[in-house]
Amino acid sequence: MKSLAMTAISLSMAASAIAQDDKGQNGLQIARNGSQQSTKGPTDFFSGTVRIDPLFPKPNGPTRATGSYVTFEPGARTAWHTHPVGQTLVVTAGAGRVQRWGDPVQEIRPGDVVWIPPGQKHWHGAAPTTAMTHIAITELSDGKAVDWLEKVSDTQYESPR
Ligand code: MN
Repeated sequence: MKSLAMTAISLSMAASAIAQDDKGQNGLQIARNGSQQSTKGPTDFFSGTVRIDPLFPKPNGPTRATGSYVTFEPGARTAWHTHPVGQTLVVTAGAGRVQRWGDPVQEIRPGDVVWIPPGQKHWHGAAPTTAMTHIAITELSDGKAVDWLEKVSDTQYESPR
């Protein structure tokens, strides 16, 4: 009997701890669909029409990862750039392109997962006649996720693959 009573007490204490967590920093966060504003990819860093839909634009707690959907209209692409601690792209729609400096352009499709190692100069974007959406997961290093370089020229974009 005594042990049953103790169990009941500790269960009740656990329930109370969970209730407190819900109001504090240990509570789950749900960013509701539609609560985060879409933005346009800045013309300094993108060619063509690009929409950025933030998922987790700032790292949560001790993590360093950020994530967003990026949608490129046909022909649109990033400028050349590097990421200090790399980047993962998960293609979710359409048909796209990715290229590391010095390598051929590669086609990417929904379901493809692209890892871009730290410091590698590259670009990513849509195919010439088809839009592309990917989730970009990028970790910060000293608060920075990307170093932007020059634009991808039409000749570079249209190079044979
Ligand atoms: Mn990138």
